[in-house]
Amino acid sequence: GMGALMGSKNLKAIAASGKQRIPIADHDAYAKLRSRINRELRSDLMSQGLRDFGTGSGSDVFDYFGVMPKRYFRAGTLAGVETISGPTMAETILAGVSACHGCVIACGRKVKLEDGEERKGPEYESIVGFGPNLGITDLAAITRLAELCDRYGMDTISVSNTLGLAMALVEDGVLDGDDWRALDLHWGDAQAVEKLIHSLAHGQGLGAWLEHGARALAEKAGAPETAVEVKGLELAYHDPRGSAGMALVYATSPRGACHNQGPYYLVELGQTREEVGVGLSDRRGGPEIAANVARQQDWVSLLNNLVMCIFANVPAEDIQKLVNSATGFDYTLEALIEVGERSWHLKRLINGKLGAVPGEDSYPAPLTRPLEDGGAAGFVPPFEEMLEAYYHVRGWEARSGMPTGDTLRRLGLQSEGRNP
Ligand code: SF4
Repeated sequence: GMGALMGSKNLKAIAASGKQRIPIADHDAYAKLRSRINRELRSDLMSQGLRDFGTGSGSDVFDYFGVMPKRYFRAGTLAGVETISGPTMAETILAGVSACHGCVIACGRKVKLEDGEERKGPEYESIVGFGPNLGITDLAAITRLAELCDRYGMDTISVSNTLGLAMALVEDGVLDGDDWRALDLHWGDAQAVEKLIHSLAHGQGLGAWLEHGARALAEKAGAPETAVEVKGLELAYHDPRGSAGMALVYATSPRGACHNQGPYYLVELGQTREEVGVGLSDRRGGPEIAANVARQQDWVSLLNNLVMCIFANVPAEDIQKLVNSATGFDYTLEALIEVGERSWHLKRLINGKLGAVPGEDSYPAPLTRPLEDGGAAGFVPPFEEMLEAYYHVRGWEARSGMPTGDTLRRLGLQSEGRNP
């Protein structure tokens, strides 16, 4: 993704600024809408939970339903897991909140550890990645490990997944060279994890095993079936065995196992969007949920195009009014969702032109084994049937996974669909 591209160019950030005002078609209407929506958003229940407890507010629920992975997706339960939750953080190390520019929710965390220095606190993915995923239940240690990745400019999901796989391979006796034995890597060992993050960042010592991510580590170790990834991107911490729809989200996301292309676990836990046709579905569902997953992807794709945070619980009708007052266009809700659908297909077409091949919409092999305990015990989503149903719903060819001519015509993408 973008991180790999920027890393290859030694680029850490892009900053832009300007003095011109952004033209708004109906400034008064937009300003009134914005202030009402922000007022309502501030008092929305989900916003309050995010402000009080951060994205870690969901950790207890995700644990209960088996959505939160432990020990690199191998365990269904972990002793002490409640000590890493958002509410626990609020009661212990939380020192304040932070927000992206202009956001009234403020899900960001500021924490203070034993040195008294205020620092960024971890969000859900980093908490789980450096916490239960590695068998660690110490919030201070998790904070420091996530902070270390931030300072190196490394993604916490990819790094913690890769380290989780390393721990699993040591446990299995696959990584058993002298250097691995000397480290004595084991679940819950935050000190060894810290050493490995430094090695990984510099590509030195054991870092040479880790620096290219989980897929490369598994291949190098001679155990390619052990990496939990899709299209080379490590999974976010929402296990499809606890949230079946995530199997399709990860498989069909344009850049691999990304949760931000469709946070379907929220739908399965009750956050539906009936007004745009995203209804409740069984978290242990099968092919019958494919249409609902596709619909949520289209909706979230629209939000991503609008640069709207997925945590902002703004009614669809208000988003429609915001867009129309800002642009002067007259979008219906359905036309807006079609913008999301079209961009989803555009990314598919771009991937096809860049060499995506059939079979890359996949389900990680380690997750074909059911967990023995916890909220996801005994369930594995019927992935092949789900993917077949999804291609059918999307109007994609079963063999190539690319949009059919009819689908491209319906979306007005015939010229984009032509081969160069
Ligand atoms: S924009 Fe989203 S991620 Fe940023 S502070 Fe607000 S709720 Fe959190």
